[in-house]
Amino acid sequence: MHTENVVQGAYLVAAILFVLALAGLSKHERAKEGNNFGIVGMVIALIATIWLSLSRAADPMVTLGLLIAAMLIGAVIGLWRARVVEMTQMPELIAMLHSFVGIAAVLVGYASHREMVETGTENTILSVEIFLGVFIGAVTFTGSVVAYLKLAAKMKSAPLMLPARHWMNLVAVLVSTGLMFWYLQSHSMIPLAIMTVISLAFGWHLVASIGGGDMPVVVSMLNSYSGWAAAAAGFMLSNDLLIVTGALVGSSGAILSYIMCRAMNRSFISVIAGGFGQEIAVSGDTDYGEHREINAEGAADLLANARTVLITPGYGMAVAQAQYPVADLTKKLRDRGVKVSFGIHPVAGRLPGHMNVLLAEAKVPYDIVFEMDEVNDDIKDTDVVLVIGANDTVNPAAMDDPKSPIAGMPVLHVWEAADVIVFKRSMAVGYAGVQNPLFFKENTQMLFGDAKDRVEDIVKALP
Ligand code: NDP
Repeated sequence: MHTENVVQGAYLVAAILFVLALAGLSKHERAKEGNNFGIVGMVIALIATIWLSLSRAADPMVTLGLLIAAMLIGAVIGLWRARVVEMTQMPELIAMLHSFVGIAAVLVGYASHREMVETGTENTILSVEIFLGVFIGAVTFTGSVVAYLKLAAKMKSAPLMLPARHWMNLVAVLVSTGLMFWYLQSHSMIPLAIMTVISLAFGWHLVASIGGGDMPVVVSMLNSYSGWAAAAAGFMLSNDLLIVTGALVGSSGAILSYIMCRAMNRSFISVIAGGFGQEIAVSGDTDYGEHREINAEGAADLLANARTVLITPGYGMAVAQAQYPVADLTKKLRDRGVKVSFGIHPVAGRLPGHMNVLLAEAKVPYDIVFEMDEVNDDIKDTDVVLVIGANDTVNPAAMDDPKSPIAGMPVLHVWEAADVIVFKRSMAVGYAGVQNPLFFKENTQMLFGDAKDRVEDIVKALP
């Protein structure tokens, strides 16, 4: 059988496995299975691609040597990063990885340009692919670098507000479109090079003008761009699998960004266009009165006498790595006959699914972990809510204060429970930078300190 046919068949199998991987990853019960589909698909894709390139190579041994060397270096760096990265640093790592996809698309574009023979319809199609691939790749590259720098606090996270910034973006797109026509007619390197410089600056500016608050959405958006950049590279290299995979990543990234924006009540367009048309009114320094405090022993007493307990985790649980003692506490309470459930806000933490991953890691049973909409109506019948390191996602101001920057964001109605215990280290604000009136409500008590230590104290203090 012809090598090309076998490779195309292998690519088809790999593409199906990637679709199954995405389907599996969308449900936590099947996430592991989904991951395994992805791994098998990737192994098949790699073997098929290596085989194909060896069958086309002038000197297969040299090609094989280069491929093995590149893969070894990549695998060593990848394994090292995957081992040392903290869950809370995940967004910046992902941003850095997207920049690699972007620069790869630019390099593939230039390599394809060099190999292009002079004229013909096919060349026009290839030229469009090269031009678009380089454009998307360059925007993704610098955009991802800025996102990484902002997330790693190596660059100020405040949005860069240049005058006439939206006009500058528009001019960049229009000039690039003009350059594309020049490129299609001349096949010259000059318009390609000018467009590359413009799109590098455009990507940089686009993300620099977005505030740190929207950065996770931007990372997911860049994920989408990196998918389209990969798909463009797939067209240039006539590699169907790269096209399919790029399209899967491109569309899933776009859907994810949209879901995140909706859950945060932000307009998708305003986020990706760098605060376009967004005028957030910052609410004043309202005096909410005094807060009450509780200690671990008091919290243990309250829990021991409760019939129903809801746990709503947030970013602080991830920072404290409190999921393991939380799982212990859950087990202890359930053994005593207390009905324990978890309510997960769609943007709790710093990545969608962040909390679900942590709870799964600590082996909290899946069937007691619910989404916000599944628990909100029942909170009024709940005895105790434990808010563990969450802040914005349980802020009643989102519903009550139309001037609040998070006004309109759906939140967990934890204040409707009989008692609420909030675990955090201070009265500091959350991610959105707004004070939380929940902390001052009559049925709320603050349990200060690192969430992991405090939950461990409660586990010890439970009678
Ligand atoms: P927040 O980020 O609003 O608040 C986290 C709280 O945890 C802080 O108030 C902090 O208070 C506390 N905390 C931090 N470290 C610890 C610790 N070691 N022990 C105990 N408490 C700690 O959390 P939420 O999860 O409620 O909200 C997520 C926010 O992130 C939302 O605003 C959301 O819009 C935003 N976001 C989420 C995305 C997602 O996809 N998940 C994407 C984009 C944005 P203190 O310092 O006093 O301890």
